[in-house]
Amino acid sequence: MMSVKEYALDIKISVDVILEKCKELDIKVFNENDMLSEENIIDLDNNIEIEDVLEDIVSNIKIDDTIKKEKLNKKVEPIKNDDFVIKKKEMYKNKEKLISNTSNSENIIVFKDSMTVSDLANLLGVSVPEIIKKYMALGFLLNVNSKITFDETELVLTDYNKILKKQDTQDASNFEKLEITDSDKDLELRPPVVTIMGHVDHGKTSLLDAIRKSNVVEKESGGITQHIGAYQIKYNEKKITFIDTPGHSAFTEMRARGASITDIVIIVVAADEGIKPQTKEAIDHAKAAKVPIIVAINKIDKPNINLEKVMTELADYKVMPEEWGGDTPFVKVSALTLEGLDSLLETILLISEMANLKANPNRYAIGTVIESKLDKNIGPVTTLLIQNGTLRLGDPVVVGSYCGKVRTLKNDLKNDLVEALPSTPVEITGLCGVPSSGDKFMAFESEKQAKSIADTRKIKEKQKNQVSSCALTLDDLFKTDENIKELNVIIKADVKGSEEAIKTSLEKLAIENVKVNIIRSATGNITESDVVLANASCAIILGFNVEPSLKTKEIAKDYCVEIRLYNVIYKIIEDLEKAMEGMLDKVFEEKTLGKAEIRKIFKFSKVGQIAGSYILEGIIKSNNCAKLIRNKEVVYTGKISSIQREKESVKEVKKGLECGITLDDFNDFFENDIIECYELVEVKRWK
Ligand code: GDP
Repeated sequence: MMSVKEYALDIKISVDVILEKCKELDIKVFNENDMLSEENIIDLDNNIEIEDVLEDIVSNIKIDDTIKKEKLNKKVEPIKNDDFVIKKKEMYKNKEKLISNTSNSENIIVFKDSMTVSDLANLLGVSVPEIIKKYMALGFLLNVNSKITFDETELVLTDYNKILKKQDTQDASNFEKLEITDSDKDLELRPPVVTIMGHVDHGKTSLLDAIRKSNVVEKESGGITQHIGAYQIKYNEKKITFIDTPGHSAFTEMRARGASITDIVIIVVAADEGIKPQTKEAIDHAKAAKVPIIVAINKIDKPNINLEKVMTELADYKVMPEEWGGDTPFVKVSALTLEGLDSLLETILLISEMANLKANPNRYAIGTVIESKLDKNIGPVTTLLIQNGTLRLGDPVVVGSYCGKVRTLKNDLKNDLVEALPSTPVEITGLCGVPSSGDKFMAFESEKQAKSIADTRKIKEKQKNQVSSCALTLDDLFKTDENIKELNVIIKADVKGSEEAIKTSLEKLAIENVKVNIIRSATGNITESDVVLANASCAIILGFNVEPSLKTKEIAKDYCVEIRLYNVIYKIIEDLEKAMEGMLDKVFEEKTLGKAEIRKIFKFSKVGQIAGSYILEGIIKSNNCAKLIRNKEVVYTGKISSIQREKESVKEVKKGLECGITLDDFNDFFENDIIECYELVEVKRWK
C-alpha cells in the first residue's frame, strides 16, 4: 500500500495526472493522501502511458496524434534515422576521451535485458521525465515502464559522462575450455587468426613484416607499429589477425597448454630449398590440431628455383596442392618483392569465410595470453587475444591466476581503445602479476567475482604439480572423466616395412567409440621433436625396434609423455586394444621395507593396543602398508597408523631400535607376531 502522493513521487509524475488516471481506471481515490492497494499500483503501472507523462512534464513538445498507445507500449524498436546514426558516430569518436574520465567503475552502468526507463532514472539518480526527454531528443518516445535498448541508452548516457556496458553472466567453469557456448542467434562473424610456421630462414618473419607493412589497419591513425606478439591488418575491408611469434614454439606450447587460438596455419616453404625437417614438423602440428593449412611457397623472386619440385615434395608428405586435385591451397609469394601477397590474403579470407568463424561480441570477453612482460614503470604488460566477447576498458579480469582491471587497452598500433571485439589482439595493463603465454583469461562483471575466481585458481595451480596439462598415458586413457574418444599416436619404427605394418594394423583397430589418429609416422629413433608433438597433441609415442636417447627420455618424463617400446607388432595392437577397453590395469609389486617383532603388548582404554616391538630388519614407516604375520600366516593386512618412540610420535624407526606400533583397525596383537612393512611399486612393463 502507498498513498497517491507517494506513488506520484516514486514514479516522478504529478499527483494530478495520477488522480486523473485513477478516475479513468475506476480506482476510488480522490486526493493525494488516499491509499492505493497493490492491485491499484499494478494497474496504474500498466496503464500510465507516454501521453500522460508527456502531458505532465513536456507540454512544449508536441506528440504526433497518430502514435498509437499500443505501439508505444511495445518494447521500443527504434527507427534509426540519419541524425541518430550521426550522433552515434560522434559518440564513438568522443568515447575515448570520455572513457579516460570515466574509467572507474562508478561511471559504468551495466545494461540488463529487462531494463526500463525508471530503472535507468534510479541508477542515474535523476527523474523519469528527465530521462524521457533525453530519449525524445533522440527521436524515441518512451514511458516510465518502457524497456530501453542498448543502442540509444548508450547515447543518452554520454550526457551523464557514463559508459554503458552489456551484461552477460560469465560462466567461470568455462575458464579452461574456452568453448563458445553462445546460442547461434548471438554469434557474429569474426576475423580469422593466422599463424605462420615453417623451416628456419624460409621467410616467416619477412612475410609477417611484409604483410603488416602493406596492410596496416587505420593507416590514417598514425599509429606506430609495435611488436605485441600479434597484429591485425585490414584487407579488402576485412580484418585478419596474425600471431607474430617466430618459430613453432608459440603454436606448440599453447596447444600443449590446451589453448587453440589459430584458425589457419600458413606453412612457409622457401622455393629454393623445399621441404625441410621443420616444415614436416609444422605440417604435423597443423594437421594434429586439425587447422586448415595454406602453403606459401616463398622466395619465388630467386633465380633457378623449381616450383614443381617443391610441390612434389609436399604432395609426397600428404599435403596435396589444390591445382593437383588436393585440398590445400598453394600460393606463390615473395616477401621481398611482395609478389603474391594479395593472393595469399585473399586465400586466407576465402578459407575463413568457408570456416564461418563466429563469436558473440555481446558478452564479457574470454581468450588467451599471447605474451606478457614486466615493465619497470607500468607493471605487467600483457598481450591478449580476445576469442569471444568484447573486452572493455575497466573490465575486471582474471588472467591465468592473476586478477586485475583493464587499466589501459591498446591495439598493436599503440592506439588507446575503449573496447575490443573478438579476434582482436590487445595489450593491457592493470594485472597484479605476469601470466604465461597460453594462459586463459576471462573478464567479469564485478571485481569481487574476479577476485574470488582468481583465488580459487591460485589454489588449484598450487595443487597442480606438473607442467603438462594434457599428458596422456595408455593407462589412464579410459580412466579420465572426459570420455576420450580419440587416441593420438606417433609411430616410430626402425624400417619402413614395420612402420607401414603398424600403421595399417592401427588403422584397422575397431573399438566402439574410439578412433586412433596417427599424427606422425616415420622411421628412425624417437626424438625430442616427437615428444614436443606428442605433448602438444596429447599423444603417446609407440616405438618399434627403436630407442629414445637419454635426453629424449628425460624430456618425455618432464612433459609426462608416454613412450612405449616394442619389438613384436601384435603386442602393440594387443596393448592398444586392452587400453581402449579400459583393461590395462596397473601392475603393482610389494617391496618390503622392514620387519619388526612384537615383544610386549600395552593396552590403553583410548587407543587400544600398542605393540611394543623391536625392529629386526630394514625400516618401519608410519602410514605405509603392513602385514601381521603369526606362525608364518598373514593374519592382517592394512596400514601402520602410528609409531611411538620414547613417548614421541615418529614417522619411522630403523633396525635395532624399539618402538610402539599401532595398526589401522587392529587390536589383537600377540607376542612374537611379526609386523612386515612394505610399499607398493608399479611395475613398468613396457618402458
Ligand atoms: P625465418 O627464419 O623463417 O623467419 O626467415 P626470415 O624472414 O628471417 O628470412 C630469412 C632470410 O631470407 C632473410 O635473409 C630474408 O631477407 C630472406 N628472405 C625472406 N623472404 C624472401 C623472399 O621472398 N625473397 C628473397 N630473395 N629472400 C627472402
